[in-house]
Amino acid sequence: MEKLIIEKSRSKRKGYTLPTLDVEPVSNDSLIPRKFLRKTEPELPEVSEIDIARHYLRLSRLNYNIEEGFYPLGSCTMKYNPKVNEKVASLPGFADLHPCTPERNSQGALQLMYDLGEALKAISGLMGVTLQPAAGSQGEFTGILMMRAYHLDRGDTKRDTILIPDSAHGTNPASGAIGGFKIVSVKSNDDGRIDLEDLKLKATDEVAALMLTNPNTLGLFEGQICEIEKIVHDCGGLMYMDGANLNALLGIVRPGDMNFDCMHINLHKTFSTPHGGGGPGSGPVCVSEKLLPFLPVPRIIKNGDKYALETSADKSVGKVHSFFGNFGMFVRAYTYIRMYGAEGLHQVSCDAVLNANYLFSRLKDKFDVPHDEYCMHEFTLSGDRQKKAGASTKDIAKRLLDYGFHAPTIYFPLIVHEALLIEPTETESKESIDSFADAMLAIDEEIKNTPEVVLNAPSTTPMRRLDDALAARQLNISWVGK
Ligand SMILES: *Cc1c(COP(=O)(O)O)cnc(C)c1O
Repeated sequence: MEKLIIEKSRSKRKGYTLPTLDVEPVSNDSLIPRKFLRKTEPELPEVSEIDIARHYLRLSRLNYNIEEGFYPLGSCTMKYNPKVNEKVASLPGFADLHPCTPERNSQGALQLMYDLGEALKAISGLMGVTLQPAAGSQGEFTGILMMRAYHLDRGDTKRDTILIPDSAHGTNPASGAIGGFKIVSVKSNDDGRIDLEDLKLKATDEVAALMLTNPNTLGLFEGQICEIEKIVHDCGGLMYMDGANLNALLGIVRPGDMNFDCMHINLHKTFSTPHGGGGPGSGPVCVSEKLLPFLPVPRIIKNGDKYALETSADKSVGKVHSFFGNFGMFVRAYTYIRMYGAEGLHQVSCDAVLNANYLFSRLKDKFDVPHDEYCMHEFTLSGDRQKKAGASTKDIAKRLLDYGFHAPTIYFPLIVHEALLIEPTETESKESIDSFADAMLAIDEEIKNTPEVVLNAPSTTPMRRLDDALAARQLNISWVGK
């Protein structure tokens, strides 16, 4: 087990140098009432600079990350985070800006947020935007609040249902339910697309919205989007698009042109800001004209060549995040968008789709494919054949770690047995995609010839196989002092 920093502590060892005190120390009594003062010194680790540098470097190596290798986590998009994003986000004018700075002294930051919003509107083909939500799921929830406000504002009070296809990401039903709606699942057909007959049956005057992911989480485009849109709008419902992952659509299809009314966009997926353990997320929401009055406040507005904050609006759902959202993520996403420009973003999507299809073509003979057709930015395999031969999708995922790869998304979407959802992203070279394909094919051979190495994997990671059921039930991740 890795030692904790506190266990490496030795009395009087230190890693800092402070200048000598050149003022009279203030007596604590005068500042803080005695009863609030600590009786004993805090137990802080006493370590040298090299101890601490080694400690954190060692810890960082226990985790897998995108700069270590291929990370094909379908739907979640682990693309490379360009260094220039970090460089711009760390400029003191952005990094040191206090969120309470008056408007006249923060014009640059306001302009950046305004321009980022304009770019997202152009990409989505929608009319309004809020940058506030701190995650895709919070964006969904914000969208749900706006859609609810829209129906209530029209006096349409019986819409208590949200329709969601059975292939959807789990956050969709969760956001709908937290927003107070009943969730009704819509079936997928054999092509992995929404079943129109089932949708028609469920599209009643109680439907507030359909939440749809397009391309869906199987990596397939819902080609019947015009029919779907008509069914939903005809029953008085709104069209919500889960745009967490826009990697197949940039500069190719605008959700606004598919008549969506509301969508969230994950800056930490499509627009390359770090996520997971790497940093806070950001899930801006774009809306059609119908939902404009309900956008959160504050809103960033432009008056001539000056930027200002509009802090109240009659029908707004209010605030969903402190201040404006995760500003550092806006700087990174803005940098990414401006570095690529419109043509570059179009190329991003073309390359994402090409890479996914290339990898798919290398794997589809040895793994079961639920849908044998061209995919979008990701594709789904089934590990059924391997399961019959004795090793499950989970075993394959664990064995991939020994080959030096992060595992793909597994057991999602729920409608595919032994699912592996694979998204190589556009930032990977043919060589790295090939080496992943080679590993998958080698594991398939191992399952036939030396199954024990697969069943006992991983053998090269800092921790071996964990008991996930126990870990989930008795989560214990904090250090308890003496
Ligand atoms: C990642 C993802 C979400 C949720 O986004 P978070 O930022 O993780 O809350 C929702 N839908 C889809 C399709 C996603 O891939």
